Amino acid sequence: MFKADLHCHTTCSDGSLTPRALIDLAKSIGLSALSITDHDTIDAYPIALPYAKEMGLLLGTGIEFSCLLDKASVHILGYDFDLGLEAIPDHCAKHRLRRHARNKIILGKLRRLRMAIPENELEELEASGITVGRPHIAQLMVKYGYVASAAVAFQLYLGDKKPAYDPGEGFTVEETIEVIHAAKGKAFLAHPHFYEKQAFIRKLLEMPFDGIECYYGRCLPEQEKPWLEIAAKKGWLVSGGSDFHGEAKPNVELGSSWVIEELFRKIFTRLISS
Ligand code: AMP
Ligand code: ZN
Ligand code: FE
Ligand code: FE
Repeated sequence: MFKADLHCHTTCSDGSLTPRALIDLAKSIGLSALSITDHDTIDAYPIALPYAKEMGLLLGTGIEFSCLLDKASVHILGYDFDLGLEAIPDHCAKHRLRRHARNKIILGKLRRLRMAIPENELEELEASGITVGRPHIAQLMVKYGYVASAAVAFQLYLGDKKPAYDPGEGFTVEETIEVIHAAKGKAFLAHPHFYEKQAFIRKLLEMPFDGIECYYGRCLPEQEKPWLEIAAKKGWLVSGGSDFHGEAKPNVELGSSWVIEELFRKIFTRLISS
């Protein structure tokens, strides 16, 4: 059976598997296709593209961009963009600068909470080129003995609106969709199931998305149904994926959510590996 998992992360952002190891795992569990959607980076692709081809796995281009609406975090998936255009790498470079400034602000807040982490810890991670964010700070808080686990770090300090949280400077939903369109890609609202406030969801659904991630992680069919109805009403494409992060999110398995071949082919018209 054709299964395509269209949402997963690698060591290029906050996942624990390298792009090659992720592709090996996808093959071993019988997936036919994948889109790697690292946070604010497409660095997996130069490695993943030839390796997926070698392994006989279909690979469509993907990214998960962070942005802000009313100071709350929103994730937007970009799919099927042209890797040869500059719009996506240009925006990724802006995200690196934004994240560097924001990570420093979060470390400052932690310092004032008597949980100092040396800045060079983050700088070393940033220098390696990966997307560095709250999950890495959570791991450092564990390393320095301030919390027992990354989950507790989020729960008490780093989660949205918690004392060490800071949204930092952000990009808007509209400009993020524009970047994806400039690269000839399709913009999808990621995991809409997370949002609780109706007015916020209404605002999001007014944005010029091409699709919506209806199948997600370990959601139940009844949680996915309302979003499938919205996609049908709006004529939007439907995507789905696990949001696999490896050990960083041990309860979510690769392939726990996926789309059928028909949906995959509607999204990906410029397959980079076949
Ligand atoms: P950032 O992009 O730096 O704002 O970090 C957001 C990322 O942190 C998300 O994409 C998740 O992978 C992770 N995350 C968010 N909330 C939690 C949580 N409560 N527990 C563990 N990880 C989380
Ligand atoms: Zn993540
Ligand atoms: Fe996300
Ligand atoms: Fe994700």
